[in-house]
Formats: sequence, C-alpha cells, structure tokens
Amino acid sequence: MVGAGPGDPELLTVKGYLALKAADVVFFDDLVSPEILELLPAGARCIYVGKPYQSAGISQDDIITQLIAAARGGHRVVRLKGGDPMVFGRSGEELEGLRAAGIAVDVVPGITSASGAAASTRITLTHRDYAAQVSFVTAAKKDGKLADMRGLAGAGKTLVVYMGIARAEALSAALQADGVAAGWPIAIVENATRPNERVIITTVAGLAATIARDVVRSPALFIIGEVVKTYAPAAIATAVAPEARHSQEAHHG
Ligand code: SAH
Repeated sequence: MVGAGPGDPELLTVKGYLALKAADVVFFDDLVSPEILELLPAGARCIYVGKPYQSAGISQDDIITQLIAAARGGHRVVRLKGGDPMVFGRSGEELEGLRAAGIAVDVVPGITSASGAAASTRITLTHRDYAAQVSFVTAAKKDGKLADMRGLAGAGKTLVVYMGIARAEALSAALQADGVAAGWPIAIVENATRPNERVIITTVAGLAATIARDVVRSPALFIIGEVVKTYAPAAIATAVAPEARHSQEAHHG
C-alpha cells in the first residue's frame, strides 16, 4: 500500500517509487495524478478502482476482492492512494480485508495533501504567532453527516478540512455556531502541488459563496485559521528572483 502524495510526482517517497517500479499490478483511484501513473513500468497492469465524484463507482468490497485475487495470483501488487494512505484513505478496510485473507502488506507513507498544500502556499500550519495545534478533519463522516467541528477552530488553532466542497455551507454554519467569527480566514487550496494549483482566500461566512463563484472542484481542502496570514508565495518569488540574478551576475562578472 503506497501513498502517492498530493500530486507532484517528485513528492513520492523513494520507497514508494521503488515499489512502483517493481510492480506487476497497480490499483489506483481518482486522487492519483497522471504524472505518477507515467512512472509505472511499461509491463505493469494498471487498474482503476476509483469513485468519480458523486458516483457510486466500484464498492470497497470489490476492491478488496480484486486486491486479494491479484496477490494470490503471485503478482507484486501496489495499491496506490493519493496523499498518505493512513489519512482519510479508507486503508483500514482494505488492510483488514487483506489481513483476514492472510496476505502480507507493507505500507509506504505518503505526503498528505495538507502538508503538500502548506508547502506550496507557504501557509505555516503551526506558525508560533498564530497556532499551537492543527487538526485534520474530514467534512464527511461514513454516514454522510458533517463531522463534529466543535472546539477545532478559532484563536490559536488551525483546522484543515478534507472533502469539504459539498458540505461548505453546513461547515461554515457549524463553525459560526461554535463561536468562530464570520470573518475568520480560510484558504481554499485546489489541486495542491499540481501545475493547476489554485489558492482562494475567503472567510468562514463567505466559504460556500466563494466555492460557487469560483467553481472550486475536487480535490480541494480548506485551511482555516489565522495562519492563513502567512500565505505569500508571490511575495517570496519576487523577493528571491532579483537577488538570485544579482548574485549570478556578480559571479560571472
Ligand atoms: N489520503 C489523502 C486524502 C484522501 S481524502 C491524503 O492524505 O491527502 C480526499 C480529499 O483529500 C479531497 O477531497 C481533498 O480534500 C484532499 N486532497 C487530496 N489531494 C489533494 C490535492 N492535491 N489538493 C487539495 N486537496 C487534496
């Protein structure tokens, strides 16, 4: 079981890369970026087991059955999952199913999308001026209901919400009911670490309207808290570029 990271293929671990290179069969889903699938060896069978947005797709039991069959067939099987397989990846069910079938599984961690988004936006999740804790929460529980958001956001706290697009309205109502200010900052990060990454800054009260206006699509996550003030990728790029040019000129001159 290999974590593919948030999208940029260079964010795969060396261990994950080597496992892919040695694979006979790879099962992957929607969050795995095309650039990573290009790394697969030419002979490897590549099997899509995703659930496109709002469609039922293949069931979790079917995935487990297919994984067991491939492993029993003597193949080197990689189950490739976006981000870190152990964070909102439904790995629990698959690991239990494989264990029950007596199949040995190695787990290779990946960079979870919250870490990828933090790096690419420079939003320091635990900047000491703003937050001493960070929570990773899924908006959607197994029963489809909004997860309990009480006590997770506000002064001194960073909240990262996964799978939140469809539940933005309920999320912002829950946060405000919990005493979070309407104007409390949120960064929406869509396609983090990918060439089409987009960052939109909004507020708790403005979240759903911003998502509708800017047509935010999956995969996207929300970083909620005062740390959003540290978002400054453009400023960093322009501050570094002239200096780098200058030192290069000095070097060559
Ligand atoms: N195991 C994954 C999470 C799977 S749940 C991980 O560790 O990242 C799926 C959710 O992850 C998406 O709805 C979205 O909220 C988030 N996500 C995954 N990849 C993302 C990306 N490149 N950019 C932004 N959010 C992403």
